[in-house]
Amino acid sequence: MKIRIDEVKRKQVDLSEEEPASHYENLAKMEQAGECSFIEPVRTQLSAVWEYDHVRATGTVETAVRLSCSRCLTEYELPVSSSFTIFYTEASDGQFDEEVELSDEDLISVSFQGDEIVVDDEIAEQVMMEVPFKPLCREECQGLCSECGADLNLKECGCDRGGINLKMSALKKISIDK
Ligand SMILES: [Zn+2]
Ligand SMILES: [Zn+2]
Repeated sequence: MKIRIDEVKRKQVDLSEEEPASHYENLAKMEQAGECSFIEPVRTQLSAVWEYDHVRATGTVETAVRLSCSRCLTEYELPVSSSFTIFYTEASDGQFDEEVELSDEDLISVSFQGDEIVVDDEIAEQVMMEVPFKPLCREECQGLCSECGADLNLKECGCDRGGINLKMSALKKISIDK
């Protein structure tokens, strides 16, 4: 998705776009790394206006991913949606700043150069922020038994996973350290 500077200086620019996740380099990497798989295209709506000396872009991004629960390994689907406001400020000569996060976490400031702004990296970033790093199929997921691997959401397997073993190994560690 691109915002043309000469166009946005004249009037508000409204854009909408639907792309496969693989269109975005960082999302393709997530998929390759097995962090998630995208089950819907990435849909972006964006309105851009010129304000004084910068472009203010507000929009929403939506998609859906399939994740594997980090506790019980069950696969589940998660709709992803995020709204954002980005200020694109023209970089002065030779001063192409890295992206700066403003104090309000919903506002992002990015510098641009040239006669158009490519929004793709920011779109991908919005999606990445919404995909949990440690996915959980549900908040109270019991996970798998560390002894026999049974799914504890389905049944209690009866293994001894008590704190005693943990304490024992902690004691052992202490004596070894001495
Ligand atoms: Zn789970
Ligand atoms: Zn067990």
